[in-house]
Amino acid sequence: MSPFTWIPLLFNLFTLLSSPQPTLSVDPFVSKAQIPSYFLNLAKSPEVFEYMVRIRRALHEIPELGFEEFETSKLIRNELDQMGIPYKFPIAVTGVVGYIGSGNPPFVAIRADMDALAMQEAVEWEHKSRVPGKMHACGHDAHVAMLLGAAKILQEHHRDLDLEGTVVLVFQPAEEGGGGAKKMRDAGILENVDAIFGLHVSSRFPLGAVAARSGPVLAASGFFQVIVSGKGGHAAIPQHTIDPILASSNIIVSLQQLVSREADPLDSQVITIGKFVGGHAFNVIPDYVTMGGTFRAFTMESFMQLKHRIEQVVTLQAAVHQCNASVDFSPDEKPFYPVTANDKELHRHFQKVAGDMLGSANIKDFRPTMGAEDFSFFAEAIPGYFYYVGMLNETEGALASGHSPFFKVNEAALPYGAALQASLAAAYLLEHHSSVKTNKKSSHDEL
Ligand SMILES: [Zn+2]
Ligand SMILES: [Zn+2]
Repeated sequence: MSPFTWIPLLFNLFTLLSSPQPTLSVDPFVSKAQIPSYFLNLAKSPEVFEYMVRIRRALHEIPELGFEEFETSKLIRNELDQMGIPYKFPIAVTGVVGYIGSGNPPFVAIRADMDALAMQEAVEWEHKSRVPGKMHACGHDAHVAMLLGAAKILQEHHRDLDLEGTVVLVFQPAEEGGGGAKKMRDAGILENVDAIFGLHVSSRFPLGAVAARSGPVLAASGFFQVIVSGKGGHAAIPQHTIDPILASSNIIVSLQQLVSREADPLDSQVITIGKFVGGHAFNVIPDYVTMGGTFRAFTMESFMQLKHRIEQVVTLQAAVHQCNASVDFSPDEKPFYPVTANDKELHRHFQKVAGDMLGSANIKDFRPTMGAEDFSFFAEAIPGYFYYVGMLNETEGALASGHSPFFKVNEAALPYGAALQASLAAAYLLEHHSSVKTNKKSSHDEL
C-alpha cells in the first residue's frame, strides 16, 4: 500500500478515535466563525497541551540570552522537522522561519521571541533554570511553546480547512534589548508578508482573557551611556579637583526637567537613569562617573527631540562644572525600538477572532504603557498586531510580573496563546485569499 493510500485511512481512524472532538464543516463560510473555538479545544486537548508544556519546561531549563539561543533554536528546528514543516535557518544568528501551507499568497506571519534574561531564578521547582544567572523571566519559553502548538494545529488542519496561502512562523532571537526583530526584518523575512501577529503573556489579566487596543500600545525606546570626566583628588580639598559626581548629579536633575518642563504633559515621555557608577572610597573624589539610562516616548518625533536634548543637557551641564562628557546612544549595540502601534484593520480582525473564541467580555482594553517591544520593527514594516494573553488565576493569588526572579508562567494559558495565533492566521488567510488569487507571482521562491 502506498503512503498516499494509507495516510487518509490513518487520518480517518484518528478522526474516529478522537471523537467527540468537534468536527468542522468544509464550507469556509460556516467554519470561519467556528475555527477559534475548534482550535482552542484542540489546543486544550491532552495531545497538544502536554506537548506545549513539555516544550516550555524543556526551554525553561536551558535559558539563553539574545543571539545565543543555539539550543533553543535547535529544539525548534527538531520539532518543525518532526511536523514536516519546511523552514529557513539561520536568520539573525539563531532565528528560524517556518512555512505552513501552499507557499503562495496571501502570507500571514505569527511570531515568538526566544531569548531569556541575565538574572538568577528564585523559584524553586522541578524545571528551574539549570544555567546560573540566566532565567526565562519574561515568558519567552511559553511564547515558543505556544507558537509550536499553533504550528502543530495548523499543520494538521490547514487542508481540512481549505486554507489557501501560507502561514509564516517567525522564531526570533534577542527581543530583550538586542533588536532581533530588526535583524530578521532586515534579512527580508517579511517580503510578501501581508500581516504579522505577536503576543505576550501577562500576569495582570485573567486566564481566558486577552488585552489589546488599536493604535500605539508601547513606547519607542532607546538606551544611552554617559561618561562624565573630571579630575580626582582628596575629598577634603575639593578646590584641587573637578568633581564628576556633583556634575553627574546635576545632569540627572536637569534631564528630569526635560520631561517635566519641555514635553507636552499630554505627550507621555520618560527618562530614567538606572545606572550610576562613580568612586570607590568615602574620602576620594573620583576621576570619572559612568551613568546609563533609558528614554521613551510615544511618537518618533518626540523621541528624536528627547534624544537631541539629552545630548545637549549632558554635555552642557557637564561643562558648567568644568567636566567633559560623552553620550553613547547604542551601548552594547542596543538599537532604538520604534513605537509599537497596532493596525486598525487587524484590530477589527482580532476582536472578531478573539470574540468568537473567548466572548467579547474577555477582550480587555490594554492601557498603553511606556514599556517597549521589538515587535515594533515588524509592525513598522507591515501591518502588525500585538496583544496580551492573560495568565492570572485569581484563586491562586497574584503572579510575579515579568523580569522578576519570582516570575512564573501559568501553563494553563498556553492553549489560549496557541489557539489565538493559529486562529488569527487561519481566519486571515480565509478572509484574504480571494483578493490575491490573481497575483500568485509573488510566491516565495524558496518553497
Ligand atoms: Zn522582557
Ligand atoms: Zn518579553
